[in-house]
Amino acid sequence: MTKHLHYETPLYQSFRHSSGTKKIYYKMEALQPSASFKLRGVGLLCQNLAEKGARKFVIASGGNAGLAVAYSAFALGLQSHVIVPESSSDAMKLKIKELGAELTVKGKSWAEAHEYALLISEETDCAYVHPFDHPLLWEGHSTIVEELAKTIEAPDYIVLSVGGGGLFCGIMQGLEKVGWNNTKVICAETEGAASLAKSLAAGHQITLESIDSIAGSLGAKRIADKAWELAQSENVIPYLCSDEAAMLACRDFLDEYRIVTEAACGAALSVLNSDLIADAKTVVFIVCGGAAMSAETLLNLH
Ligand SMILES: *Cc1c(COP(=O)(O)O)cnc(C)c1O
Repeated sequence: MTKHLHYETPLYQSFRHSSGTKKIYYKMEALQPSASFKLRGVGLLCQNLAEKGARKFVIASGGNAGLAVAYSAFALGLQSHVIVPESSSDAMKLKIKELGAELTVKGKSWAEAHEYALLISEETDCAYVHPFDHPLLWEGHSTIVEELAKTIEAPDYIVLSVGGGGLFCGIMQGLEKVGWNNTKVICAETEGAASLAKSLAAGHQITLESIDSIAGSLGAKRIADKAWELAQSENVIPYLCSDEAAMLACRDFLDEYRIVTEAACGAALSVLNSDLIADAKTVVFIVCGGAAMSAETLLNLH
């Protein structure tokens, strides 16, 4: 198979948050050319579909998954069609179009846009790409852990954000691949997008009635079945933060590394201020990134 579409990303040791006894690392997925880790899985899936003959991809996403599909098509010299719900921002639509994707606004919610994307894939020769629920997406995301294993020993904790759980599935599979069986995984969500935490609390997979959070990229009402299955591991720890805590964590990160991230990523970064990792020796934060943060929103925080 040809070379992958994602880039290997740096693993920085935080100068602000590490101490004599504690090492805090950032895995810089914000530096992927599509601004998030999504390119790892989406890139692998699109390459695979292209090898099977696909010449055009379709996805429902007004966010980073849509951007990753548009980028993958661009990098492969193929075409893409991105369906975004009416709620999508003009800035994200522009970024998707800049990559040469065909863009259609359809439906009030992601679910409606998704129905339409499925219809297009049935009626045309567009190959359908799901934003978080496909084994090849998880395999692509699992390369994050393989890269980590090239430079560090098994960390005590890996901290990541959970939307539909695609990143989580990938990290869990990566941990298994490299044999890091004792690493705990902290799954961060904002309170208004807590599809994983509420499922764990209920003891069964639930569907949220609505999403009420600034962290749009975490706004999946229901996590993937595979994510629910993997969340049964005793190494998995749910974590909830407020929108405000997520935004403040984005601002702190901007201040430390001059890199803008979305609130979805800030949710994970907010764990820096939590007691959960108080006694840890090594913690890796997946800085998942995101293209949807405007400078105005971030700089107007008080
Ligand atoms: C997609 C995304 C998430 C959530 O990933 P899932 O695989 O849906 O759990 C988190 N942060 C950012 C920036 C994203 O783009």
